[in-house]
Amino acid sequence: MLDNRQDILTLSLDEIKVFLTKTGEKAFRAKQIYEWLWKKPVNSFEKMTNLSKDLRSLLNENFIIQAVEVDDQQISKDKTIKLAFRLQDGALVEGVLIPSEDRSTACISSQVGCNLGCEFCATGKLGLMRNLSIGEIFFQVVEIMNLAREKYDLPLTNIVLMGMGEPLLNYDNVLKAMAMVSSESGLGMSPQRITLSTVGLPRMIKKLADDKVRFNLAISLHSANDKKRSSFMPVNNRNNLGELSEAIKYFNEKTGQRVTFEYLLMEGLNDSLNDAKELAEYCKQFPIKINIIEYNSTGDKRFKKSSNEAFDQFVTFLKGRNMIVNVRRSRGMDIAAACGQLAGKKK
Ligand code: SAH
Ligand code: SF4
Repeated sequence: MLDNRQDILTLSLDEIKVFLTKTGEKAFRAKQIYEWLWKKPVNSFEKMTNLSKDLRSLLNENFIIQAVEVDDQQISKDKTIKLAFRLQDGALVEGVLIPSEDRSTACISSQVGCNLGCEFCATGKLGLMRNLSIGEIFFQVVEIMNLAREKYDLPLTNIVLMGMGEPLLNYDNVLKAMAMVSSESGLGMSPQRITLSTVGLPRMIKKLADDKVRFNLAISLHSANDKKRSSFMPVNNRNNLGELSEAIKYFNEKTGQRVTFEYLLMEGLNDSLNDAKELAEYCKQFPIKINIIEYNSTGDKRFKKSSNEAFDQFVTFLKGRNMIVNVRRSRGMDIAAACGQLAGKKK
């Protein structure tokens, strides 16, 4: 069935007002509708109980709410929950709820697949199907927030854009969705609790700085050597480490924010002492934090996680250089919910 209805989540409050006055409805209803969409979000007009039945049908005839539907959940031994979200065209993306002692984090997707082709990443193998809409991004947060409350009685405290896709290649929708997550007329979360992870696209990082974003920026570095980085991250051929560092300096100067590097340790590829030295050298250019991440298997035999000895040696070296280093051991590995394992396996 061809659906010509417009996605109401792309409309501003004023645009909803205009629609209402054109159809003879009271303009003040727009505020109520807007609250149902963004503040106490519901995924159907039927649930907007303070609106008349007529108005609800009118909305339903003209608009859709492009939300996501939970298709499947898997719970890990460590309480991590992986969700498969079904989109209205049938495509699937994944999101993860990661509860811990002091926080609960939603990891969400920004695209169906990804076309950047990082060799170690399961999502990269899918290619890109399409960008997610504002609502498809926003409602992943809403669904995970509801789940955290229902399952664990926890408020959602953090959001990371580290699921499927490259968020900076779906720039407008990601930024609008995050604006509503942090807006007082939306979910009201502090932007400091949102982290966008990017493969590192210099031009887009500069754009973030120009747009004065206030969320955290994490960059997937994985090697500070151009030749090496290009060998498993083809994006580095067009956007090399020199251009990247220039963009990071720009971002840092404009926003005053310290960027985080993510560094995935893969055996024999980027985990030697020399790799650590190159990383330390590269990091001298700007204030930085480093997250050292354990590699999660994706079934591709070329990539393996580092041995404990190599891992410890790498971390110890960086700490010895007085760098800010965090170690991120993986969660939800038994259900393939860890970073880089998300590939929408279920058909
Ligand atoms: N496209 C963005 C965000 C999604 S990927 C990016 O690349 O940053 C989120 C993080 O998972 C990235 O740091 C990515 O490098 C990492 N990742 C990819 N494959 C992984 C794997 N197999 N094990 C652990 N982390 C992986
Ligand atoms: Fe895309 Fe990020 Fe995976 Fe690279 S690591 S293929 S950019 S999702």
